[in-house]
Amino acid sequence: MKIAFYSTKSYDREFMDRANESFRHDISYFDTALTPQTVVLAQDHEAVCIFVNDEANAEVLDKLKEVGVRLVALRSAGFNNVDLRHAQKIDMPVVRVPAYSPYAVAEHALAMLLTLNRKTHLAYERVRHGNFSLERLMGFDLHSKTVGVIGTGKIGRIFARMMRGLGCTIVAYDPYPNEDFAQEDGIEYVSFDELLDRSAIVSLHCPLTEESYHLINAEAVERMQDNVMLINTSRGALVDTPAVIKGLKSRKIGYFGLDVYEQEENLFFEDLSGEIIQDDQITRLMTFPNVLITSHQAFFTSNALTQIAETTLHNIADFEAGKPLDNQVGVD
Ligand code: NAD
Repeated sequence: MKIAFYSTKSYDREFMDRANESFRHDISYFDTALTPQTVVLAQDHEAVCIFVNDEANAEVLDKLKEVGVRLVALRSAGFNNVDLRHAQKIDMPVVRVPAYSPYAVAEHALAMLLTLNRKTHLAYERVRHGNFSLERLMGFDLHSKTVGVIGTGKIGRIFARMMRGLGCTIVAYDPYPNEDFAQEDGIEYVSFDELLDRSAIVSLHCPLTEESYHLINAEAVERMQDNVMLINTSRGALVDTPAVIKGLKSRKIGYFGLDVYEQEENLFFEDLSGEIIQDDQITRLMTFPNVLITSHQAFFTSNALTQIAETTLHNIADFEAGKPLDNQVGVD
């Protein structure tokens, strides 16, 4: 099948080409993101393959249909960047990769948490400059701390188990609690407010939906414990960034680790080291010593990239063969 891949980097091509040895799809790779202006590149292709910062809104979907595209294949789990209602209306199936190494994301959340606590990023820089002082590097024992996990799906559950392994108490919030998991893993489901009241560390593992948009807003920040640690490896818009910046300035928030950012599509995955960054919120966040930013790299392990490539090409092959689409994203 002829597929137009948008927003591709060298690593996408490497893993897709390897997986494609057994599928033999006809792939065109494009560096550029999918936008109304770049739809034209998909001319003569039957499918497009897109990533988290490609915007498949109604206008883009209509244009894709016009140029002959019949399938949108996401090489991600999240699908908040696709207008699913419109896709359904114009009969354009959307498939995704529902699960690819949830360990990759959960382990990155843990890496951010440990880095922020024990300040290994600062220690590394210091020692390289011959500074062996311990001033301002003090951390705290994670053992016995209460960790709040928001969203107990595939990633949240693994993260919760890892934190249990470190001797933490876990409280969780999920509108669809998994009681078997709670019993087996000794975690307690509580309300959103109670989670904020009780947690020294809050980690976000829920999807971005209308209900979860700006879940961490000024009111939530106010409710959290003093000196709380907030980790977001899910989606940027779960967090109202100005409210969190205010919380950091007042020291209400003691640590903030973010792998995702609401306006990340203009920044992440690109080398902008020679540019003037115009986004004043990210530059403000970059100034805090207790903020750790990574650019949407939580998924970025060889295991995850292998699974993403294989599932994506499999989804497309199923569509081509007229088989049922196991990984089709439906409208609720
Ligand atoms: P999942 O679908 O297995 O689990 C999501 C859980 O969140 C479900 O249990 C659901 O009931 C719950 N949920 C839904 N709305 C909620 C709300 N308002 N409040 C609390 N919980 C809510 O998803 P997953 O595979 O665990 O992935 C979680 C999120 O991680 C994805 O939605 C995606 O945004 C993000 N993600 C990020 C990366 C990265 O590289 N940073 C990679 C993969 C996934």
